[in-house]
Amino acid sequence: MANLNVPKIDNRYDNYIGGEWKQSAHGGSCENRNPANHDDLIGVFPESTSEDALAAIQAARAAFDGWRLTPAPKRAEILFRAAQLIVERKEQFARDMTREMGKVLDETRGDVQEAIDMTYFLAGEGRRMYGQTAPSELPDKFAMSLRQPLGVCSIITPWNFPMAIPSWKIIPALVCGNTVVFKPSELTPLSAHNFVRVLEEAGVPRGVVNMVTGGPVIGELLTTHQDVAVVSFTGSTAVGRQVNQNAAPYFKKVHLEMGGKNCIMVMDDANLELALEGCLWGGFGTTGQRCTAASRVIVHDKVHDQFVERFVARAKALRVGDGLDPQTQVGPSISQKQLEKVMSYVRIGQDEGARIACGGNRLTDGSYGRGNFHQPTVFVDVKPHMRIAKEEIFGPVVSVLRCGSLDEAIQIGNDVIYGLSASIYTQDINRAFRAMREMYTGIFYVNAPTIGAEVHLPFGGTKATGNGHREAGTAALDVFSEWKSVYVDFSGKLQRAQIDNNPTALTP
Ligand code: NAD
Repeated sequence: MANLNVPKIDNRYDNYIGGEWKQSAHGGSCENRNPANHDDLIGVFPESTSEDALAAIQAARAAFDGWRLTPAPKRAEILFRAAQLIVERKEQFARDMTREMGKVLDETRGDVQEAIDMTYFLAGEGRRMYGQTAPSELPDKFAMSLRQPLGVCSIITPWNFPMAIPSWKIIPALVCGNTVVFKPSELTPLSAHNFVRVLEEAGVPRGVVNMVTGGPVIGELLTTHQDVAVVSFTGSTAVGRQVNQNAAPYFKKVHLEMGGKNCIMVMDDANLELALEGCLWGGFGTTGQRCTAASRVIVHDKVHDQFVERFVARAKALRVGDGLDPQTQVGPSISQKQLEKVMSYVRIGQDEGARIACGGNRLTDGSYGRGNFHQPTVFVDVKPHMRIAKEEIFGPVVSVLRCGSLDEAIQIGNDVIYGLSASIYTQDINRAFRAMREMYTGIFYVNAPTIGAEVHLPFGGTKATGNGHREAGTAALDVFSEWKSVYVDFSGKLQRAQIDNNPTALTP
């Protein structure tokens, strides 16, 4: 049975290894503070060492045989219970999440809901996880393929979807019969803790899920250790590249979901009001801190000026503040470092010759001074070659570019190293389908912003956003299982494939 002992004293939290909540063996601890109010200390979490990560890997390795031999429908029953527990605690989890990473309550409720949806959806695979049967080319021979788990999966996640993204990885890993070592972002350990606690309470056996909190040091061990079979990483492209390089010599299966520089194309026949709504939500939702954020808006010349005037007016009116305040529409940046990155790109954009149409400054007055707040910022006169049009900023900054045609919009849209999400606003079905076919991204929307993925479809990107895998949907099963092809010959004699099925041999 899992150990349900109290995992924390006051606001001091533990790692979860082999079914025990424990402090780091020799590591220190790090504070988790509210990005909307630095005076608000949320908790103190272990700054784990390699020793802790090793113990977690060993616990996951030891639990693997028991878990993989548990029938998949039974594994799924535990996961269904976990989904139900998250439903019951949704509001508290959402509040914890807003406090630790700043996005507004509606959005953190959505994040938790995504974890619920994903858990229900993928637990359903416990009774499906279909393989194939195929006719054999030889008589009295049966052919089939089935999915097998791989072993220990290292799950490394970012801070911007602190419960949804872990669920996208951990739940398919578990339903397929793998065991897990989970390293959440050091910036959002509380949501990770909430999620793991639910798995424990739902009855996931000891050692099947382990969690160690901390930074790159343990991340590196989790990507190189011989007992790790799969590395599933979501984060920046720079770190993803490092993870890929570290894991390559060991031939691990590596699944990477990385950065984005997504665009919304607004055509001259677009429903402009709808496009404005979409660009505001796509650009400034989650304070622009989504991998799918619409940080570029490419607007047709014929409606450009009108669009910009209305977009800027709406961006100026957005209410920035603490995400726990129901009036707030845009929360803080996650950290001082992220805020500084935003401010540095605002300077870069100006130096490159783009013009700030609104925003452009950090907010420091009154209670803003206690958090990482920045004005929603719109750049106009942006040219495709500028860094603000090419690089991921991950903050409340939108660049507006002009185009003279759909072809030009597509050309600009594709001219970045990333390929996660794109969208078009148009009333013309022909344009919509052409753009859908030509945009080299993993996700595409028509008359909707670049954000809004649903859990039952594949999620991921092309180029420097991903390495060919997808998560969510049943595509997630391809990351966390591998195929075994099985042939059963019941002819009672040696039959040689490709040789004994020669048609001439069948001639009486
Ligand atoms: P990050 O790359 O800084 O960190 C991601 C995770 O990697 C963290 O847990 C971090 O501790 C860990 N890490 C850092 N160095 C490591 C190393 N050497 N080895 C192993 N692990 C290491 O990213 P972040 O700031 O947490 O998140 C923001 C980034 O994530 C953005 O670029 C965003 O686009 C991307 N993201 C992508 C998707 C997607 O699905 N494509 C979704 C969400 C976020």
